[in-house]
Amino acid sequence: MTPNSLSPTAVDAESIAREIWSLDCRAEPLAGEVDRNFLLLTEVGDRWVLKISREGADEQALDCQIQALRFLEPSPVAHLAQKVLPAPDGRHLVPYQPTGGGPCWVRVLSFLDGSPLVNHQDRPPSFIEEIGRTLACFDLALAGFDHPGAHRDLPWDIERTHELGRFAEHISEAGQREIVERHLERFVSVVAPQLADLEHGFIHNDANDYNLMVRHGAHGETVLAGLIDFGDSLHTITIAELAIAATYLMLNQDYPLTTAALVTAGYNSVRPLTATEQKLLFDLIMARLCASVLMSVRGLHFEPENEYLQISALPVWRLLGRMTMMDPEEATRTFEDACAHPGTPVRDTGEILAVRRSHFGFNLSISYSEPLKIVRGEGQYLFDDTGRRYLDLVNNVCHVGHCHPYVVAAAQIQMAELNTNTRYLHDNLAEYALRLSGTFPDPLEVCFFANSGTEANDLALRLARTHTGSKEIIVLDNAYHGHSPSLVEISPYKCEGPGGEGLAGHAHKVPMPDAYRGPHRGPDAGAAYADEVRTAIAEIEGAGRKLGAFIAESLIGCGGQVIPAPGFLSGATETVRAAGGVVIADEVQVGFGRVGTHMWGFESQEIVPDIVTLGKPIGNGHPMSAVITTKEIASSFVTGMEYFNTFGGNPVSCAVGLAVLDVIETQNLQQHALEVGTRLLDGLHELQTRCPLIGDVRGLGLFIGIELVRDQETLEPADTEASRVIDEMKARGFLLSTDGPLHNVLKIKPPMVLTEQDVDETLAALDEVFGTFDRA
Ligand code: PMP
Repeated sequence: MTPNSLSPTAVDAESIAREIWSLDCRAEPLAGEVDRNFLLLTEVGDRWVLKISREGADEQALDCQIQALRFLEPSPVAHLAQKVLPAPDGRHLVPYQPTGGGPCWVRVLSFLDGSPLVNHQDRPPSFIEEIGRTLACFDLALAGFDHPGAHRDLPWDIERTHELGRFAEHISEAGQREIVERHLERFVSVVAPQLADLEHGFIHNDANDYNLMVRHGAHGETVLAGLIDFGDSLHTITIAELAIAATYLMLNQDYPLTTAALVTAGYNSVRPLTATEQKLLFDLIMARLCASVLMSVRGLHFEPENEYLQISALPVWRLLGRMTMMDPEEATRTFEDACAHPGTPVRDTGEILAVRRSHFGFNLSISYSEPLKIVRGEGQYLFDDTGRRYLDLVNNVCHVGHCHPYVVAAAQIQMAELNTNTRYLHDNLAEYALRLSGTFPDPLEVCFFANSGTEANDLALRLARTHTGSKEIIVLDNAYHGHSPSLVEISPYKCEGPGGEGLAGHAHKVPMPDAYRGPHRGPDAGAAYADEVRTAIAEIEGAGRKLGAFIAESLIGCGGQVIPAPGFLSGATETVRAAGGVVIADEVQVGFGRVGTHMWGFESQEIVPDIVTLGKPIGNGHPMSAVITTKEIASSFVTGMEYFNTFGGNPVSCAVGLAVLDVIETQNLQQHALEVGTRLLDGLHELQTRCPLIGDVRGLGLFIGIELVRDQETLEPADTEASRVIDEMKARGFLLSTDGPLHNVLKIKPPMVLTEQDVDETLAALDEVFGTFDRA
């Protein structure tokens, strides 16, 4: 077909509107792929679109489009489709002969306010699902429509994709040609034979990102304004609607399959897909991609100088390449999953905040002044609902990386097979108890399993009390060990803060062994802090009581990422034992190789505690925890009262725990933490020489703190500055948090799969952010 020889002008459009539709209006050209389109603005403020077809356009096909739109007028999607304005004489389609050109057809449609989806890259998952739901509504509404023009030959008919194979020879790059030919062969042999049995109907057939119109809702949210251009509408397999929309939505996306699954879930919630449709979806998306590249090489062959054709085909080639690498069965499972689970309703940030305000415990803070809605995690990265990627520098729970596929698979497999409790024999429990206890030095060999760090510490307190016969406990200032009553009352971080009731009578506080800011500094600080423990014991004994336990994190997290002054923990351990007490090492934050040099933080401090508690990273996010102790202490606990924990140590948790240990080992994550952690520490020390705001850089492996001060002498804490750094880093795609009693310590404890490149990017970003403060 040839384009219009002499394109009609706005003046022509105005005279057509006036003469045929009796519309007094001003015309402005609009974009259009095939038709010449004009926006008509009438004096009373109405807006219409005048569409002038190309020369020689098929009247029947045009009438089909018009009748389809009229068919939709009483339907639930009427507001999302253009309406047809009949001329005063009742005609919807009017012949028109432009000067110097061949015969065309003219029609007038209502104007849909909005702009094409292609201009809106902000596409929250709820919106993608909404597109799927809307297209399914269109398909249901159009199901009863038919027209002779709906049965025409159209190269864009997905059922005829293989007929485009003749253009494959024009693909100049042999590898690309081979990919397309392979998909077409599969289409012919596997896909085409199944198409006849699929549901057929009249569909729009081209819901691409130029035809889906978008506008902003009352609260600035993205909403669908409608679906335009029925130029390719056709009677074909109904599911082509979804396949085509998914194809275009997937272009240029970081996670195309996730996008496709979202639109599929939305579509399926309105028009459920049959099992065959679910199975064929991946191939149909492939078919559309092949059709797209073949139509563009066909175009290029006839218009080799048209660079636009080449450029517009690039993302299609890229997606085709990525999908060729995917496992079709795995992708199909993703689509089947999307159809199997109706899913949680997707709410925007405002709605979720409202639910939290009314139906959630009220005393829970939210990270960041502008809260993040994180919807996906992978490795060291988190993704928000707009698809933005963040480097997670602070989540030590997802230790071996968010959603590590090996850990996820272990949980899924065991969950599908059996989940019971520890009163049954199970191989996972035996194996896990052996593997976990095997990572500890003697005499730590007996495991108890629980579900959270709090439960583990709570149990540790009980073990210590039964073993020593005393409740008296020494704790570090600013320590946090859990949220149960028994732990809140011995955690100064909580009980001495807002809402707290102060330390329990049996809890005795000693200063944090902080050689940077604490009361003792310099090379002998460790011994001086250990002396504080001695003093506390003397006070306990002076009051006629006896020490039960000393509890401390091996490296101090909540207190502000403090590495104990050298010699403190070994000195304290000696003193505590001499007084008949036991040493509890809380490794809930720091365990499992994070310190790099050792598997357990206490090893880096050269002690062997009597009781060790584990949590957070132990299950990579699965709720589990453990207590490891000696035979002797475990024996004291045999009092006649059973220790039973419904969920603790169940076969699923043990499968997860084993998988985490496997990954740490096979990916050599402890050594890795040492290497990338040292690189980060080195970089931070270098940064410190240039930034007066950085008072102290400390850490071991991937447990790092940066303490900010306004004055290097007085150590005035730079708390607002620390918050600003956090916000500035977040704006650059890096998630950090602050901690410490003075809120001036930047906390770094990322998933252990952090790479060198992540480290370098973090350092560059920090450099930039610190550069916004005064430099030395
Ligand atoms: N101990 C320490 C050192 C912790 O950091 C925490 C949690 N922040 C806990 C115990 C309590 O763990 P959970 O929140 O799993 O109960």
